[in-house]
Amino acid sequence: MMAAISAARYGVDVTLLEKNDRLGKKLRITGKGRCNLTNDCDTEEFMRNVPTNPRFLYGALNRFSTEDTKAFFEELGVPLKTERGKRVFPVSDKAQDIVDALSRACREEGVKIICQKVKSLVISDGAVVGVNTEKVQYLSDAVIVATGGMSYKQTGSDGDGYRFAKQLGLKVTELVPSLVPIVSDSKVCPRMQGLSLRNVAIKIINKTNGKKIYEDFGEMMFTHFGVTGPLVLSASAHIPDINSVPYEAQIDLKPALDEKTLDNRLLNDFSKFANRDFANSLGELLPQKMIDVVVELSGIPPHKKVNSITKEERQRLLELIKCFPVSLDRFRPINEAIITKGGVDVKQIVPSTMQAKGISGLYFAGEVLDVDAYTGGFNLQIAFSTAVVAGESAAMGEW
Ligand SMILES: Cc1cc2nc3c(=O)[nH]c(=O)nc-3n(C[C@H](O)[C@H](O)[C@H](O)COP(=O)(O)OP(=O)(O)OC[C@H]3O[C@@H](n4cnc5c(N)ncnc54)[C@H](O)[C@@H]3O)c2cc1C
Repeated sequence: MMAAISAARYGVDVTLLEKNDRLGKKLRITGKGRCNLTNDCDTEEFMRNVPTNPRFLYGALNRFSTEDTKAFFEELGVPLKTERGKRVFPVSDKAQDIVDALSRACREEGVKIICQKVKSLVISDGAVVGVNTEKVQYLSDAVIVATGGMSYKQTGSDGDGYRFAKQLGLKVTELVPSLVPIVSDSKVCPRMQGLSLRNVAIKIINKTNGKKIYEDFGEMMFTHFGVTGPLVLSASAHIPDINSVPYEAQIDLKPALDEKTLDNRLLNDFSKFANRDFANSLGELLPQKMIDVVVELSGIPPHKKVNSITKEERQRLLELIKCFPVSLDRFRPINEAIITKGGVDVKQIVPSTMQAKGISGLYFAGEVLDVDAYTGGFNLQIAFSTAVVAGESAAMGEW
């Protein structure tokens, strides 16, 4: 939509082909239905949030910055607000308002919207001169492929763009999930299924060398397969080679309490419940669903009276609460990932125009490209910036 609007504003005829029966199906579910559309940070900070090919984006972000995104939507009548971590949302908290604004702008700029699935590109003498849908052939001076990645296939983005790229011999780098829930083979996760932990700190440790590769604070959840939630999704983007390197999440269940304060708290609880069994003494400290697991992992017999717990046992419990271990064994499938890492190799794309090098008439924009970012509104900004550049270049006849 952004590419179509940008091209149409140059006065050319634009046709937008969408395989769903409505526009912006994925956009509607972004940011848990609130759409975190950009991040209110400068370009340097933006780049630090793009682990793959950040330099490719300099030109696009320069042409259409995070400030431009905010101005664009406010001019379309969508007031915005900035929240924690400089995340920008519509004031209404409705992603649908962003979809509606883009759809309205498409209509106002005269973009012809056709709901048909593109099956292939039309190629003539090595140049792209149109597309074939299931029904018709559309000929054009330029084609912009903005088909997204291959995550959340039910939203329409199921990897067609990669096929189109390959049709022309373009390289597509390995496609892997990112911002994705993580499977743990640890038996404790299913026992705590559905438990959501707020205000916990997490560290990700490479177990081969003990190195900490990531740490953060926030919310996470246990599931039947392992762990998910904002903390885990963000962490996943920082974990390389999960299938060959053993990783462990160490969860600090009480990050606000240092060890001494937590020990005092344990002593207090233990004196309050001195005559109870150990297993019945943690109700004020831990969520109910965790207690059995923590008791088991602590190695303290569940029926031991609290007043006979030794200092060493209390220390073991304290360490478990400050450093609860969960092995991280593999990512969930790509369809469950927020974004697809990998895509059309950017070495084959001119960064100032988004045109495929040496292929006249062909442009790429958005997640189909091999660029991806952490959470915080960066991925949509990448889609918007690359789309504006592709739309304008295609319209100006850079083919
Ligand atoms: C649950 C979820 C939440 C997210 N939240 C955020 C967030 O808050 N902030 C953020 O920055 N990013 C977020 N993202 C990531 C973000 O949504 C994507 O990076 C972004 O939508 C990519 O935009 P795109 O235009 O490249 O692709 P898409 O938004 O996937 O759009 C591609 C469109 O092309 C259509 N299409 C595909 N193939 C064809 C074909 N052959 N013919 C015709 N049409 C076709 C699809 O139907 C689709 O409508 C989220 C992703 C998910 C899954």
